[in-house]
Amino acid sequence: MSRINVSRLPIDPGPAAWNALLPDAAPAQSVDGNETADWIIIGAGFAGLAAARRLSQLCPTDRIVVLEAKRVAEGPAGRNSGFMIDLPHDLSSADYGGALDHDISLTADNRHAIDFASEMARDFGLGPDAFVRSGKINAAATEKGCRHNREYAGHLSAMGEAHEMLDADAMADMTGTRYYQSGLYTAGTAIIQPAAFVRGVARGLVSNRVQIFENSPVTTLERNGNWTATTPSGSVTAPKVILAVNGHLNSFGFMENQLMHVFTYASMTRVLTAQEAATLGGHAIWGVTPADPMGSTVRRIQTAQGPRIVVRNRFTYDPTMEVGEQRIRSVGRDHDAAFKARFGMLDGVEMEYRWGGRLCLSRNNVSVVREVDTGLYAACCQNGLGTTRGTLSGILAAELATNTPSDRLSRALDADPPSVLPPPFLTKIGAKAVLKWQERKAGLEL
Ligand SMILES: Cc1cc2nc3c(=O)[nH]c(=O)nc-3n(C[C@H](O)[C@H](O)[C@H](O)COP(=O)(O)OP(=O)(O)OC[C@H]3O[C@@H](n4cnc5c(N)ncnc54)[C@H](O)[C@@H]3O)c2cc1C
Repeated sequence: MSRINVSRLPIDPGPAAWNALLPDAAPAQSVDGNETADWIIIGAGFAGLAAARRLSQLCPTDRIVVLEAKRVAEGPAGRNSGFMIDLPHDLSSADYGGALDHDISLTADNRHAIDFASEMARDFGLGPDAFVRSGKINAAATEKGCRHNREYAGHLSAMGEAHEMLDADAMADMTGTRYYQSGLYTAGTAIIQPAAFVRGVARGLVSNRVQIFENSPVTTLERNGNWTATTPSGSVTAPKVILAVNGHLNSFGFMENQLMHVFTYASMTRVLTAQEAATLGGHAIWGVTPADPMGSTVRRIQTAQGPRIVVRNRFTYDPTMEVGEQRIRSVGRDHDAAFKARFGMLDGVEMEYRWGGRLCLSRNNVSVVREVDTGLYAACCQNGLGTTRGTLSGILAAELATNTPSDRLSRALDADPPSVLPPPFLTKIGAKAVLKWQERKAGLEL
């Protein structure tokens, strides 16, 4: 018999702005009493929803239950910048790239995940406001950023990947600001409104017989023949469980001292007036990721209320997986500085929402897709690219749990486990120092 007492439940700092822009969701349904199912999935982010979808394809008559601690889209899955990237995106590399062979197979796997997300978007009737395959631009504001772009372009050429360099005029035409010196365009990325996407997928799954219980944090998980997941309002028992909780895998007692917990942060402006939008100029909708991984991601979005700008930057190492409001305020000053540097013409446009969210990284940039106990599977550690890698982990965990072989699954199973970290106090000092140094080096890309 195994018994797991969950040591920590997720805490998400600041409002989930993307979700707040949408009409209210239908009231949540929580676990009520003791239920049975064929499958339990814990966590309704990208990994959990993809696992539910893949299981519903592989075992169409099985009862699949998803247990989510919060409302769908209130957690990191609804808090991100929405770049579902196909290409290598190693945040610890100077230009996102890694070893060539590895990056080629990683890109193929990422594309499989994006195709899978695209099929869900199509089958569940999501529009381009929720999911669109628009490609992405790595924007460079400095000569060093331009160099990163050139180096990354060289890596893409070696991988046989098409790409296009944009000059400062092309960047200004798109963004309305002359802040950027160059851009590197690649076509394979999808851009999502994260909350609209995950809510739409969750709705689609529910209409395909998947049961999603929200506000249902799992506090214990116990195996006595079958697994029983207990929540404050009841329990669900099933033979097999998929843990899709990203860094909270540690809270279930797995991979201790192998996962790094990092927060990143974003701010979203109020709606721009027609006058402000005209003053800014540029395209109505655009988004750029930074040429330097430590720089700022910026999107101009069109919402039901009108245009807004979203800025994401800063990474902080927080092994407790919690940050306070004070952190949101202090990082907000970096968002304001990044916004002012780029959009000086929008003086007086203030931020309406500020928030943060968890990432989970491993030192060797691997995810955890494996059976961690009998009948208990993990789809965790997405290394900052959870929209894509979370989707992939969820698909693969469902395939592993149903004995559905594929080359992709073999690759995942052959991967090394996350490297063991140095003792916690050393990791904390080291990670903080490295992040600070890299952010300082990012300079005007921030
Ligand atoms: C500001 C910001 C910008 C980002 N930008 C991007 C981007 O552009 N592209 C990209 O790919 N990634 C981005 N990310 C990262 C991305 O959001 C995450 O990597 C992704 O959400 C991870 O997906 P997941 O399904 O593995 O985990 P999550 O989305 O974290 O989902 C796990 C779920 O498990 C639930 N859970 C945890 N414990 C329990 C429990 N005990 N019981 C029940 N439920 C539980 C949580 O509430 C959560 O909803 C960004 C993140 C942030 C914060």
